[in-house]
This record gives sequence, C-alpha cells and structure tokens, in this order.
Amino acid sequence: MKIIENVSLKNLNTFKIDVKAKFFCEVTNKEDILELSDEGFFKKKWIILGGGSNVLFLDDFDGIVIKNRISGFEELLKDEEKVIIKANSGELWDVFVDYCVTNSFYGAENLSLIPGTVGASPIQNIGAYGTEVSEIIFSVEYFDIKSKSFRTIEKSLCEFGYRESIFKNDLKNKTIITSVNFKLSVKPNYKLIYKPLSDIFADKEKRSLSEIRNKIIEIRTSKLPDTDVFGNAGSFFKNPEITPDEFERLKREYPDIVSFKTESGNVKISAGWLIEKTGLKGFKKGNVGTYNQQALVILNFGGAKGNEIIQFSEFISAEVLNMFKINLTPEVNIIY
Ligand SMILES: Cc1cc2nc3c(=O)[nH]c(=O)nc-3n(C[C@H](O)[C@H](O)[C@H](O)COP(=O)(O)OP(=O)(O)OC[C@H]3O[C@@H](n4cnc5c(N)ncnc54)[C@H](O)[C@@H]3O)c2cc1C
Repeated sequence: MKIIENVSLKNLNTFKIDVKAKFFCEVTNKEDILELSDEGFFKKKWIILGGGSNVLFLDDFDGIVIKNRISGFEELLKDEEKVIIKANSGELWDVFVDYCVTNSFYGAENLSLIPGTVGASPIQNIGAYGTEVSEIIFSVEYFDIKSKSFRTIEKSLCEFGYRESIFKNDLKNKTIITSVNFKLSVKPNYKLIYKPLSDIFADKEKRSLSEIRNKIIEIRTSKLPDTDVFGNAGSFFKNPEITPDEFERLKREYPDIVSFKTESGNVKISAGWLIEKTGLKGFKKGNVGTYNQQALVILNFGGAKGNEIIQFSEFISAEVLNMFKINLTPEVNIIY
C-alpha cells in the first residue's frame, strides 16, 4: 500500500471542496488497515472516506485520509425465507442495491441510487422512501482501533435511529467498518409506505423489484441535483422532531405544514418545508445557495470554501429558528 503526500481531495468529496490531505492512501483489504495501525497512523489525525458524499471539509486535512476500496460480496446463507449477504465496505451502495435487485433479494430497492459506500450506510442509517438500511442489516464487522482487532456487532447493539447509530456516537473515530452483513427476503416483500409508490404500485401485477428500483431512480434524478454539476451532499440538515404540543401550535399557524408521526409519538417536520417557508428556496449568496427544486440541499456553485458553506447553513438555521423556534441540526459530517 502506497502512502502519498499532499493529495487534493476535490474529486473525493461530492461537495467538491478543494482541500488537500497531508497523507493519503487507499485500502483494499483488512491487511492494509493492520499495516496503518502498525505504522502508528491511528495515533495521529485520520479519517476514512467512502464516496465523500456526506462530509464537508473546512480546511486542509492535517493527517491521513484513507480511501476505502475494500470490495466484494459473498452469500453467507440462503434458505427458502432469506439470504444473508456479506458486502465489503468499499463497495458502492448502489452497486449492492443493483446486485440485490438482479438476484431477487427483497429489502434494499427503496434505497436505490443513494450515493456512497456500503461501509457508510450503517453510520447514519441511510434512509429514503419509507425504508431505513437498519431494516435489512444483520450485523456490522469493523476494525477496533484501540484493541487492534476485528469485531462484529449485532444489529440490536447498533443503536439505530433516524440518521443515527452507535458509529456516530460511542464508536465515532474508534472504528473502521470493513463489511456489513445484510438479511434480505427471498420472498416478495415490498415496502410501499411512501405515497407515490403505493399509488403507482397499488396493482400487485405491476410490482417487481426492478420496476420499483427504476421508479425510485426516476424520482431521485428528477428531484436531486447531480453532484457532477453542482457540489452538494444531499440533505444538509436532518428533519427536526418536535413534541405533539409544539406541533399543534405550529399547525394552527401553518395548516399546510409537512410532517410525519414518529414511533415515539413525536412529530418530524420536513426541514425542506421549513426552509422554503422562510423564502430561502433557491436563495444564493456568493458561491453557495439552496437548490431551487429542494431547499434542503445546499449547493456549491463552484469554488466555495467549507467555511462559506457553514456560514450559509448557519444563516439558514437562524432564519428557521427566528420564524419557527425550531433548531436545525446538520446531517452532513463537518470535518475540521
Ligand atoms: C445527492 C445526494 C443524495 C443523498 N441522498 C441520501 C438519502 O436519500 N438518504 C440518506 O440517508 N443519505 C443520503 N445522502 C447522504 C450520503 O449519500 C450517505 O450518508 C452515504 O451513506 C454516505 O456514504 P459515503 O461512502 O459517501 O460516506 P462518506 O461521506 O465518505 O463518509 C461519511 C462519514 O462516515 C465515515 N465513514 C465512511 N466510511 C466508513 C467506514 N468504512 N468505517 C467507518 N467510518 C466510515 C466518514 O469518516 C465520515 O465521517 C445523499 C447524498 C447526496 C450527495
């Protein structure tokens, strides 16, 4: 494994922030991780990058950036109900979804076209169109930096929540996810909670994994900006959760408020709707702006620095707080 110095990260993060890594390497297997550990790289500043689609670099990275290229899928078990697939963490997430759809494994299709790698999928428990990846995760395998050993954590211990997991909290900066084991159904089992999907696929005859995947790809490409055209990291903020009382107060004032009930009885509010209501959809300041089709996405129109994007996001949060008394928290990982 080669370690190189002064590497531009511009094409390794979808926000297209032009910063440099002091050291850079690509890992293709577990031995590479052990080598980095033996050479003491984890005692200094380090970060592992998948697709760079959920990070915002504020500055040059004064440590080692490890690009994950650990690839491969393996079928661990299959019976008449289910299949367990081990997917290595450097595989592209959508390549994994395509593999599931092609092999008639049910459960990943609603998450089609989410950018990034398999290894990052449990970190924020990626979700879209009525599904979260935790629903199909069986266990996660990782390298534990402190004990220098490879471990497996069962799904029940991963503390999955909305855009949350143990990897964003107790295990943050302490682990490198090497593979994820997924449990998928081999029997038809569609998740059609999302209204447009349930409308389109109401007729059972019309349902198939590839039809659903194609529809989701169509919806996503029409709604989300292409990262090759404008740097972005998808939703910049999480949808905030408020109590039923707070919700009633808002609903009286804004009857058109877009919301979803959560399992805990609270109410999740669409952060995109909140931003839109402040009048900031399509708003641009310097090199940064919100997407004119979806206010929750912040765009780098070219040449923006990480700090410019942070300042813009703080301006948006302040406007939302001022109008609704609701705090927005970033979904994107800010890298100092
Ligand atoms: C256009 C667009 C649309 C998006 N839509 C969605 C969506 O619908 N739903 C959704 O949930 N997300 C969405 N995202 C966000 C993003 O795609 C996901 O968060 C994705 O899982 C990030 O994967 P990545 O490999 O790019 O992670 P990176 O950005 O490379 O890393 C994210 C964080 O995880 C850490 N990390 C990465 N790999 C590992 C590993 N192997 N071990 C330990 N830590 C690791 C990194 O250090 C970093 O802190 C979208 C992003 C974009 C740009």
